[in-house]
Amino acid sequence: MSSPPSLPPRDATVGEVTRWLGEHRCSARQLIDGYLDFLEHLGREIGAVVETFPEQARAAADQSDQRRAAGEILGPLDGIPFTAKMNITTEQGTSDASSSILKGFRAHEDATAVRRLRAAGAVLTGKSNCDEFAMGASNETSCHGVVSNPWDRSRVPGGSSGGAAALAGSHGWAFHLGSDTGGSIRQPAAFCSATGFKPTWGRVSRRGLIAFGSSLDQICPVARDSEDCRQVLQVMEGHDPLDATSLTLDDETVQPISRVALVSEGFGPAIDEQIATAVQAAAGQMADQGIEIIERSLPHIEAANACYQVIATAEASSNLARYDGVHVGARESSKDLQSLYETSRHRGFGSEVRRRILLGTFVLSAGYREAYYTRAQAVRDLIREGIDQVLEECDALLLPVSPFAPFPIGERIDDPIALYACDILTVIANLAGVPALALPCGFDASGLPIGMQLMGARGSDHRLLELGSRWQQWTDHHRALPDGGAA
Ligand code: GLN
Repeated sequence: MSSPPSLPPRDATVGEVTRWLGEHRCSARQLIDGYLDFLEHLGREIGAVVETFPEQARAAADQSDQRRAAGEILGPLDGIPFTAKMNITTEQGTSDASSSILKGFRAHEDATAVRRLRAAGAVLTGKSNCDEFAMGASNETSCHGVVSNPWDRSRVPGGSSGGAAALAGSHGWAFHLGSDTGGSIRQPAAFCSATGFKPTWGRVSRRGLIAFGSSLDQICPVARDSEDCRQVLQVMEGHDPLDATSLTLDDETVQPISRVALVSEGFGPAIDEQIATAVQAAAGQMADQGIEIIERSLPHIEAANACYQVIATAEASSNLARYDGVHVGARESSKDLQSLYETSRHRGFGSEVRRRILLGTFVLSAGYREAYYTRAQAVRDLIREGIDQVLEECDALLLPVSPFAPFPIGERIDDPIALYACDILTVIANLAGVPALALPCGFDASGLPIGMQLMGARGSDHRLLELGSRWQQWTDHHRALPDGGAA
């Protein structure tokens, strides 16, 4: 009697799957077949997957099995499946940033992060849905349609990396690449009960990341746990000659984190009580394990969202100027050049992207620049200094990720201000350039996931991830799957 191929349990982390592969309990080919099956069924059902690459992925898995048989594996990610967000370029498939203006765009080149991961043996299995040009917090602005939250399909998965987080929240074995400009890996990770990490700005090359706000953007992993994110970061990080702003940072040999500050603004009246209570309980668990918890205030948080809106839209208006239907982007025929630009940009961009381009152009325009853009840069300095100051007294900050639980699809999409309110606790990390880790820390009374956030000093990425791993050894929130993990 032949036994069915044995595959790891659905909640298995990348680390656990690596051990399965190492002990020959399953082959990379079986793993990739099983994962493709998940992507094609549940992944597509919830709208998280835009395309899959079955042939190339199977061929890559077979090569991984051959390397393993020859004792020549390329590292711990050899044979592990991953996906990339639609705004990260890949040699295979399309990279349209979920925008009609780039519909069908084939980059024919891997982003540096993707290239490094493939060189380490990881297997690209598909592309994940996201908000158009990564602008959004609900994954409702994509030309590929809305993504549903796997924990309650009538609700949003968060955004903009909604597809990536929804996949990580509903199945193990793999990791996913998303991006974070103002919270786009952390807020969807919190909404879907996944672990998402935004590195220090510059730590990971942005080559191949379709630009939104260049001084804020980072490519990020989202996976089952902090250790998986660390493994992925280790492969992606480091200077890349194709991105002059990328850095090689060493933080590895320093002491583990032992003192954490609760940020009082993260527990104010604007924050859902159940979320505040869950994050405070997490702080209590850390204290039980010997981590010293102090409380500190970051008063500039109040101004952070306005500051982010000015800087992010200003940078977006400049970055998106290239999509004019002539140099780049879908061209609409028109009677003259001016109306060709206008029609191409009007039809190609969705309403949220157009709103941001208009706002960004306004804040940079003569007569308003000083009042908005220059002032926002000054506020950015204050936010950075405020965080640096608190981090002189402790090693990390702890606060919730989102002020509220995942909300119903459609509830906020026509109310930009209500949507921007999602970002109040996340944008400070991008403005200050510091690393930030989102970890699941429980569920509310309706069974919706709650996430907490750790932020550290610039360059302390691995220390932060090590604290995340330690905390996940003490707790099991990150193991939960929707439907109790039923296949
Ligand atoms: N939600 C934020 C926004 O809409 C963040 C987006 C992001 O990080 N890409 O701008």
